[in-house]
Amino acid sequence: MSKPDQERLDRVVAEARRSREQREQQYRDRALKIYPWICGRCAREFTRENLHQLTVHHRDHNHDNNPSDGSNWELLCLYCHDNEHSRYLDSAEGSQPSEEAPRATYQPFAGLESMLKRKT
Ligand SMILES: [Zn+2]
Ligand SMILES: [Zn+2]
Repeated sequence: MSKPDQERLDRVVAEARRSREQREQQYRDRALKIYPWICGRCAREFTRENLHQLTVHHRDHNHDNNPSDGSNWELLCLYCHDNEHSRYLDSAEGSQPSEEAPRATYQPFAGLESMLKRKT
């Protein structure tokens, strides 16, 4: 039966996840020491209370590229980090014929302008 194999697989996966989390914790700690706690896009400032919303972005999108001088890191808030990655995907898929497809970009304030116009 495959049960022992499954257990071994589970353990390998758990170990891989743990070492990845450890590595992420390491470069995150390092990045937070090098850089001020400010989002590189929207300039939102962070404190110890909301620091978990500040994330480390890899400029070249390679999470294995972690030079200790921090040159591949950028501190971004969760929202700007999401944006950054969807933009990266957009440009990577730019050659596909997608003129008719609606853009998947999340626009939280898309309806706000027309709402404001309606009121005045
Ligand atoms: Zn931001
Ligand atoms: Zn990123």
